[in-house]
Amino acid sequence: MSWIDSAFPRTATPTSLVGRVLGLNPGMMTGPGTNTYLIGRREPILLDTGAGVPDYLPLFERYMAERGWSQPSRVVLTHRHRDHLGGVEQLRTRYRGLRVAKMIYRDAGLPEQVENLRDGDTIEGDGVTLVALHTPGHASDHLCYYLPQEKAVFTGDVVLGGSTTVIPAEDGDLLDYMSSLKRLQSLDVRRIYPAHGPVIEDAQAKLTEYIEHRLLRERQILEALGDGLRTIPTMVERIYKDVPVTLHPVAAQSVASHLKKLAREGRVREHTQGSAPSRWELV
Ligand SMILES: [Zn+2]
Repeated sequence: MSWIDSAFPRTATPTSLVGRVLGLNPGMMTGPGTNTYLIGRREPILLDTGAGVPDYLPLFERYMAERGWSQPSRVVLTHRHRDHLGGVEQLRTRYRGLRVAKMIYRDAGLPEQVENLRDGDTIEGDGVTLVALHTPGHASDHLCYYLPQEKAVFTGDVVLGGSTTVIPAEDGDLLDYMSSLKRLQSLDVRRIYPAHGPVIEDAQAKLTEYIEHRLLRERQILEALGDGLRTIPTMVERIYKDVPVTLHPVAAQSVASHLKKLAREGRVREHTQGSAPSRWELV
């Protein structure tokens, strides 16, 4: 997949307030890897920590030294997935007493001693303010962070640079996800710093594209149901016929999340019969 870009820079300084260090964990789900951001003029706030790849820490320290910084002031996390908080331990070993905060929400596998962040909480750094925004859908505990000084938003996995996001069956929720996208759209936002891929300069256009992409998929699913397709595999086969078969399991998750949303809205109905795949129909 082209979005695993091996030429993606390992470190970057997009603006005077925002630096970026790559988590060095490339893959089908992470693209070039997880972006971690350093925000502020001095003693920056670190946003996300990557997956805990050993090579990340030396890269992080080198970038800090280049900027003339000795240590991050604190860490804020976007959500519970391993490729965002897996680096907490190595950073805490290196920087004793480093404060870490995230939204605590039905948490499993949370690093110890994490402070809770609520929707609307503000985090002050040197010349920067981050406003935490609860934006569930990809993950129930997901926070985006708004940076008013740049009219920018750190979107975590809600919006990605170069791919669409996955709504996991277990902890994801497409209805919540659509609300989160609309909430981001309602902000005075110009730039997006995603957790994977490059900076997005036209935030509003990207948010519109994301919303329209989901609405298109929804129409395709409703059409498939109208044409008598009943199971997720048959719908995936039709709707994703131009997508490599290796990605069909991910596509199936996406169709399942759409059906769950439509069921919550009372527009489709699920029939289960033993261990056979569910059959779906329009209401
Ligand atoms: Zn995630």
